[in-house]
Amino acid sequence: MKKKEFIFACSITLVFMSVFSYFIYQENNNKKRIVNVMNEQEQTLFYIKDTKEFKEEYQNMYAQILYHEEDSFFHEINCLLHLNYTPQEINNLYNYVHHENIEKLLDNEKIDLEAYYEIPNFEVDKIPRYEQYQEKNKTSLQEAVLKVNIGLDHDFYTQIEEIEDKEDYQVLVNKYRTLKEYEPKDLKSLSYDARYQLREKAADAFEELVSFAKLENVFIRPYSAYRSYSYQQSIYNTYIQKDGRILADTYSARPGHSEHQTGLAVDVWSEGMNDISEEDALWLKENAYKYGFIVRYPKESESITGYIEEPWHLRYLGKDLAKKVWESQLTYDEYYDLYLK
Ligand SMILES: [Zn+2]
Repeated sequence: MKKKEFIFACSITLVFMSVFSYFIYQENNNKKRIVNVMNEQEQTLFYIKDTKEFKEEYQNMYAQILYHEEDSFFHEINCLLHLNYTPQEINNLYNYVHHENIEKLLDNEKIDLEAYYEIPNFEVDKIPRYEQYQEKNKTSLQEAVLKVNIGLDHDFYTQIEEIEDKEDYQVLVNKYRTLKEYEPKDLKSLSYDARYQLREKAADAFEELVSFAKLENVFIRPYSAYRSYSYQQSIYNTYIQKDGRILADTYSARPGHSEHQTGLAVDVWSEGMNDISEEDALWLKENAYKYGFIVRYPKESESITGYIEEPWHLRYLGKDLAKKVWESQLTYDEYYDLYLK
């Protein structure tokens, strides 16, 4: 009898415990399950309701805005709604526009950005310059964005900015970006002649390029590699005296603006010549990327790079990036703005 009662009591307790645990479990997962069956619009309203950002007058709008997890999301959508952006426009902004641009919108009057949704590299604060460039040059908006981002709506050597990460192997140096008096720390002499130096990885890659070129009967040698700020200054001044500043600028960089100062650029000549042969230039154009280099100033890119064709000037980027840039057929200035900035 006692045993029976004991078993009965145990069973009842077990049943109660199970039911109780089940309800606790249900309660704990309640919110989670509600969210799972809600669509993303409903989530925005659901989450904002419990925060101090909730504004009653926007309740209907919240219900039409897709939810995003960023911390600043609620504050931003309140600002945007206050500026009269519609929920649909807000959804488009978060779908198409870089977050940095959304932040900049918060301090502006409302701007219609629909034309920019398919142009990922646009920057909100350059919109007046894009429109001006497009008007003046009759280009597509996409092209205007790219050209203005490079700086090409201003003359070369105007609106110059100092490069932030000068040590970066992907560094972009051009007539709008200066290295100031930067000196690389890991220069290494080339085996051909110790006077010619490149940064370590670039030097090793260059040796590889030269030896593999030989196997295909292409014999090249370096004739200029790293150049310091002061050395560049002296050669640029010599060219000015010889040809005048306007002409000198088409083939020689001003100090601070030469890729040679990065220790990642090397000029090459064909063996036995004080120039590069057409065949060797063609081989470099088609093969240099396999060893991590690009021909930086190709034909017909003068309006972008500001330099006449230089089939002898190689820039080290590393194998992965050099291949991508080579495949894109863009100048490095364009590639950098579109994919690396
Ligand atoms: Zn060069």
